Amino acid sequence: MNWLIAQLQLLLPPLMQSINQIFPLLPQPKKVVITTHQKPDGDAMGSSLGLYHFLKQLGHSVTVISPTSWASFLNWMPDTKSVLDYESQTEKANAAIDNADWIFCLDFNTLVRTKKMEEKLGNANAQRILIDHHQEPQVEKFAYGVSDTNKSSTCEMVYDFIVDSGNVDKINEEVAECLYAGVMTDTGSFRFPSTSGNVHRMVATLKDKGLNHSRVHEELFDNFLENRFKFIGNVLLNRMQIFYEYNTALIAIPQQDLIKFNIKSGDTEGLVNYPLSIQGIKLAAIIIDRGDERKSSFRSKGSFDVNTFARKYFNGGGHFNAAGGQSKEPLDAVVAKFIEAMKENKDQLSNYQF
Ligand code: 5GP
Ligand code: MN
Repeated sequence: MNWLIAQLQLLLPPLMQSINQIFPLLPQPKKVVITTHQKPDGDAMGSSLGLYHFLKQLGHSVTVISPTSWASFLNWMPDTKSVLDYESQTEKANAAIDNADWIFCLDFNTLVRTKKMEEKLGNANAQRILIDHHQEPQVEKFAYGVSDTNKSSTCEMVYDFIVDSGNVDKINEEVAECLYAGVMTDTGSFRFPSTSGNVHRMVATLKDKGLNHSRVHEELFDNFLENRFKFIGNVLLNRMQIFYEYNTALIAIPQQDLIKFNIKSGDTEGLVNYPLSIQGIKLAAIIIDRGDERKSSFRSKGSFDVNTFARKYFNGGGHFNAAGGQSKEPLDAVVAKFIEAMKENKDQLSNYQF
């Protein structure tokens, strides 16, 4: 019987081993690539650069690769200049992947989230290591990893990785700033239910290590240009619809608005949260016509599961209360689809519970 099980296991893809298994290997210098999802947000970039600043202290040679460009409000993070953009620096990035012993994959669950990098990443000889908090990870693609949907952010998980591997003394100001940026943005400034005691204890430790948290908030939230606020004024006045019967709000933005107000990627970040602060609203959606595709974001409060909603209707996914999707159909068609989907979910949306 044991023999049979052993033979069957040979036929199955190897299982992802616990991330703890690499702790004993950390002292030997390696060539390391760190990558994350396309259009990285604060958590994606913060966890990547936080891990980068940690691993460099252990003597590893580390390259961070972003699958695409990123919003300029992340450029203050220490060493963002060294991050390769896969789309504009493909050759350099491919060379780093070819030479790597380890590829850390942070803040995404499936390789397709790395867009044009997917194939190169999937065929790499290096061992892929996952650190992520999204549902349904492609565990067969990773030699080692940790996936925990209860975690507030990948930055919290990188912090746990550093602490659990016995390296809390390596948390310096740079590591602290990067990790704080991600945990703060992914928890909506510590308001989402994912903000656990561990998150607050982590922030306390980061403060003890010299973190200037006010600076991080200012860098992230007080660096916008005037045009963004004119754009938001227009969006709230002309592009927002409220469906009180369904406790739902929808914002649909045509591409001409992005052009008219000279909107850059990053300027639309967080917009979906505005209607969630209207009394009674439990589901908020934003659909933006980005030209090549219609990108949607969904946010909910309490018992409405937007991860399932995004998967079912919008070819996407994410977390229980924050998810996204995309479509190649015209904006009007995606809006119509949303309204239809909302109506199909009327029972859940009107009988909402915390
Ligand atoms: P956002 O709305 O801020 O773009 O994304 C919210 C969450 O949903 C993030 O955790 C992100 O990883 C996930 N997400 C956003 N867009 C997509 C998508 O098109 N596909 C999948 N699988 N997840 C997405
Ligand atoms: Mn995240």
